[in-house]
Amino acid sequence: MHCGRYRVRMARIELNTEVPHSARIYDYLLGGKDNFVADRAAAAAITVDWPHLAISMRANRNYMARQARFIAAELGIRQFLDIGAGLPTAPNLHEVVQEVAPESRVLYVDNDPLVLVHARALLTGSPQGRTAYLDADLHDPDAIVRSAEFHETFDLTRPVALSLIAILQFIVDDAEAHRIIDTLMAPLPPGSVLALSTVTAASAPDEVNRGVAAYVARGIDEKARDRAEVEKLFRGLDLIDPGVTLVNHWRPDEAARAVPDAHVHMYGGVAVKR
Ligand code: SAH
Repeated sequence: MHCGRYRVRMARIELNTEVPHSARIYDYLLGGKDNFVADRAAAAAITVDWPHLAISMRANRNYMARQARFIAAELGIRQFLDIGAGLPTAPNLHEVVQEVAPESRVLYVDNDPLVLVHARALLTGSPQGRTAYLDADLHDPDAIVRSAEFHETFDLTRPVALSLIAILQFIVDDAEAHRIIDTLMAPLPPGSVLALSTVTAASAPDEVNRGVAAYVARGIDEKARDRAEVEKLFRGLDLIDPGVTLVNHWRPDEAARAVPDAHVHMYGGVAVKR
């Protein structure tokens, strides 16, 4: 198998399987196998309060693929920084963008040790492109932009797409979320892009507010945002049509059109740096 260039620095891995983790709850609800009893128990309990969570997560994953394809095909971007990569699932971001342009480079970042263990499965990029993995925390964006992986993967004279897909709901403080985005966008040249999605209660207030509380009760801090709060995450950037929408309304395909709004609990948008 030809794996192209890839790189991952293996730190000492500490995996606590007794405590539920957001990456593995998400994996379980998407039908994956990379999860443990504690994650499945948490998912079962959370979905009592949040019955359409799995549908919303699938709509989000579908949105991830649509916006990544759009950014590669329509905006011509060839470099992607994907923070909160998640466990490998089909299709992964590098597969989407390398299908459009095989020379595309992707740096995946996540803080779940299990994602690190599976990083090899994320790193089977095209021979012409480059796929790398960095074990880091979004709470420390300086460490990401200062890392060797960031500087080895990207040519910072060319635009980079920063994707923060289904992760900002775990950054509950708005001022911190703004600081994180500013720090990550600062080294990227004009023409770079911010693509994000995050949890909202707008389409199903009772269900989502109960569901978010169920996450918090299990030690996973999480927050739902309204449209104005999500639009503010893009401040200083130019939102691309159709702006911030429920993810099923963002340049929808047939699958996205088939999902009822009440089952979609994520806002998404894509914006360009001037
Ligand atoms: N982006 C993927 C996966 C979303 S699940 C998708 O949309 O399909 C959220 C991911 O964010 C998980 O893999 C979780 O491990 C990761 N994550 C949560 N908090 C994080 C943090 N503070 N730093 C880095 N990764 C984080």
